[in-house]
Amino acid sequence: MTTPPRTNRSANLSANLSANLSVLTLPAFKDNYLWLIHDGSNAAIVDPGDAAPVKAALAAHKLRLTAILLTHHHADHIGGVPGLLQDWDVPVFGPRNDGIALVTHPLGEGERVDVPGLDLALDVLDVPGHTLGHIAYARRNSGRDPGADWLFCGDTLFGAGCGRLFEGTPRQMMESLEKFTALPDDTLVYCAHEYTLSNLRFAQAVEPGSAALDARVRADSAQREAGQPTIPSTVGLERATNPFLRHGEARIVQSLVEAGRLMPGATQVDAFAALREWKNTF
Ligand SMILES: [Zn+2]
Repeated sequence: MTTPPRTNRSANLSANLSANLSVLTLPAFKDNYLWLIHDGSNAAIVDPGDAAPVKAALAAHKLRLTAILLTHHHADHIGGVPGLLQDWDVPVFGPRNDGIALVTHPLGEGERVDVPGLDLALDVLDVPGHTLGHIAYARRNSGRDPGADWLFCGDTLFGAGCGRLFEGTPRQMMESLEKFTALPDDTLVYCAHEYTLSNLRFAQAVEPGSAALDARVRADSAQREAGQPTIPSTVGLERATNPFLRHGEARIVQSLVEAGRLMPGATQVDAFAALREWKNTF
């Protein structure tokens, strides 16, 4: 077995920076996705919870790792970082305030990352809720080409769902999700877990009769039956089907009231909190 070469960062930066970028889906653990962004030569990994699938993909596609991007401190998102750093001398971008000692380039709201080795700029959003220091990365390219806007949102937004509130408040999570709904509808949503079908069952329970939801259930069920991921989704699809982005909709409020989980006339935050609480035990 050969050891991959340690990288020379100046060599990485001399790569063809105009090459098209693509995103590889690397399944890990039971239902995690690690995202490998590459241009055919260089690659950046988002949330490497495990080093092994990343090393295997880099070798299979003959790619050099040039950066690591982290969204939050949970082990299934950062556990592979030490193993990758053994082989690749690369910067580790991550949240300033989420307690990750491995981060070499701390980031927060409003900052922009020019990803080393790639023609890729990512804007950083603070999205507290799942953890207090959680950040997301948005590529905003509107008008350049379709499918070029990306969101790497870790465990904040999921297909038809959102992350559990381990550290933050319902209001924080609600406001974090609102940052995503402000992105263009065709933004591809790269979240970190395959939870979509289970989330859709809850979505149908709280918003019965939604044609958009029924269509998504059919499409995503077919994807899973074919062994394919349901991710990435899009901001537009989430806006149309994700109850955690639709907590103000009359039908969802009615479901919460009928279930005895919300008083009539309650606030949006109350509705969001009741929805999250309901999903925890659904
Ligand atoms: Zn997490």
